[in-house]
Amino acid sequence: MKPFDTILVADWSAGKRAGPTPRKDAIWLGVTRDGIDEEPLYCRSRQEAEQEIVKLISQEKAAGRRLLCTFDFPFGYPAGFARAVTGSDDPFALWDWFEARITDASDGTNNRYDIAETLNRLFAGTGPFWGKPHKDKWPDVPYRKAGIVYDQVAEKRACDLVSKASSSCFQLAFPPTVGGQVMMGLPTLNRLRRLSGVAVWPFEPHDEAPVVLAEIWPGVIEDAVKNALSVQGADAIRDRVQVKLLAAALARIPLAKLAAHMAEVPEAAREEAWILGAGLSPELNAAASGGAPPLRNDCFALPQGVHWTPVDEALALLRRRLTTVAGTEAVTLAQSAGRVAAQDIYAARANPPLPNTAVDGYGFAGARAEGLHRLPLVEGRAAAGDAPVEVPEGHAIRVLTGAALPQGVDTVILQEDIAQDAGHITFHGPLKQGANTRRAGEDVAAGDVIVQAGRVVTPADLALLSATGIAEIMVRKRLRVGVLSTGDELVEAGENAKAGQIYDANRPMLLALLAQLGHEAVDLGRAPDDRATLRKLLDEAATRVDAILTSGGASAGDEDHVSALLKKTNAMSLWRIAIKPGRPLALGLWSGVPVFGLPGNPVAAMVCTLVFARPALAQLAGAQWHMPQGFLVPAAFEKRKKAGRREYLRARMLDGQVEVFASEGSGRISGLSWAEGLVELDEAAQEIRKGDLVHYLPYGSFGL
Ligand code: AMP
Ligand code: MG
Repeated sequence: MKPFDTILVADWSAGKRAGPTPRKDAIWLGVTRDGIDEEPLYCRSRQEAEQEIVKLISQEKAAGRRLLCTFDFPFGYPAGFARAVTGSDDPFALWDWFEARITDASDGTNNRYDIAETLNRLFAGTGPFWGKPHKDKWPDVPYRKAGIVYDQVAEKRACDLVSKASSSCFQLAFPPTVGGQVMMGLPTLNRLRRLSGVAVWPFEPHDEAPVVLAEIWPGVIEDAVKNALSVQGADAIRDRVQVKLLAAALARIPLAKLAAHMAEVPEAAREEAWILGAGLSPELNAAASGGAPPLRNDCFALPQGVHWTPVDEALALLRRRLTTVAGTEAVTLAQSAGRVAAQDIYAARANPPLPNTAVDGYGFAGARAEGLHRLPLVEGRAAAGDAPVEVPEGHAIRVLTGAALPQGVDTVILQEDIAQDAGHITFHGPLKQGANTRRAGEDVAAGDVIVQAGRVVTPADLALLSATGIAEIMVRKRLRVGVLSTGDELVEAGENAKAGQIYDANRPMLLALLAQLGHEAVDLGRAPDDRATLRKLLDEAATRVDAILTSGGASAGDEDHVSALLKKTNAMSLWRIAIKPGRPLALGLWSGVPVFGLPGNPVAAMVCTLVFARPALAQLAGAQWHMPQGFLVPAAFEKRKKAGRREYLRARMLDGQVEVFASEGSGRISGLSWAEGLVELDEAAQEIRKGDLVHYLPYGSFGL
């Protein structure tokens, strides 16, 4: 399914025209466009709301943005109702029926109770509609439900039961009610569906339609709504909060999840309709409360008309366009090494928490001038971990390294610099006030940022976090990265390789590399050079990983199925980067999941992973942008190269110089293994002579 660029959530109302001041029980429209949540729009009447929606539909269509329009009332009635009323199971026949009969004046007065009477007369006994504002009007609509038997038609639809929605579309009064909204909403829907490019889910094919109408129910994000209301206080208008959060949630839920959900409606939905998001509460709640916005279709597009894009330009694009897709979780300090901090972390306590002594010696108050000093010693001593005692003016006390300074002590003299006799110490000045002590907070003050959001937590950070009183932190969930090898020639290590077959070298390498980079590597196996199988594997992978690395088949030849498939999504770009090694890379989105189509040659696959996929994946994982910091060292080799492209050579250090692998062949796997890093020759370089300084990037600088 194509992703939606814009989401509309309409909170409908059956009531009369509302006043000019925003309030509940009016109509609220929430819009999230290109990941941006707009302030909900308040509509005083159904006519006004319909006009706004028609305007939005034409505007989004004109801009080529795909629109999902959702409404918070049932699109259908329980099975059998339509046939009893119209003689047909077609839900649209029922929509026509209502549109032809419902009247809705501009002041909001309408005939919904009269229509309910008409409908009730089509069924034997009382009901199925019930509930009204006046006990003595509309005799064929009972005031209460008591006595109605739902044997000709069920009280609730299958999806109402599945999602535990409390109201029935036959209930016309008393909260929570949707019955009136259905009657007052279907005529609007029926007019909207006649506009060109509009499809109604789940009654019509929806995968490609520029505009899709669907039913939603705010109850699916009740947790997120409650949370938001508790933060926003008593003045918040629930309907307004709901539409904003629902639009945000539908915009941010992973596309693969939404697509699978929309594709798999039960049979009952053909007539009764279905609640979009029924059963997706956990995902929608998560998406509503701060889930990441989806990646844009053009996130891999390169500048038009440029034949060979320079490496730095391609990297700058990745940095700008890729956003964090990883969620968050709380972990203990012990589990946090190697994880990405999800927020700035503040010191809960100063380091050191109290002023203390930096040496073993004797503490007292104030500076001492030139000359000889003699001070009486108090009993006892202050050692690390002791609570501070009090030392009287003019006295000294024995102190040991790390001890909090006793009250009345701000200066310490080294034990080597004193003489002790008869309960006194004697020493020579001068000595500055504060000598040999550490100030409270001189390292870190309480409230200082100690770890920034996006930092990969190091063992040293654990010392800092622990020292400043932090025991648990919020980190990004590990990015799940799938690895798929493609090619008819590939067999698995350990299998019998026939003539013409080769062992899959890329997959084990890439899986191990991803794990070292801190991601959750997911083995997606091997795909033959066959489009249908590859498509199935990608579809399946997109539901369970956050990014995919494929190798092989990325170029533009007959058997390059990865790029051929991605190309059809309109969200792919074939990267011609001015780099060696590395043929074109195919970068694209598959159901919203970024795919890095790497070259098949193991050397090119590894270099392209380190140079492009590594920083891109870090960006998706919520980590700060970080380029490998190498160093300049004299070359132990000679080389000529073409100007205008960047080259990476397999290299390692020997005796303070960097040497490179004898062959530059892209299939020479032994050279990858021989190397301990890469020499990076920039675009301008043409001739390198022995002893010239070249840029060496040890594998470690890539985080390996
Ligand atoms: P391709 O990009 O599919 O045209 O492949 C380029 C070269 O890399 C061919 O010689 C392939 O056989 C080889 N190749 C592709 N995938 C792998 C792999 N997973 N392991 C080792 N060699 C591979
Ligand atoms: Mg191939």
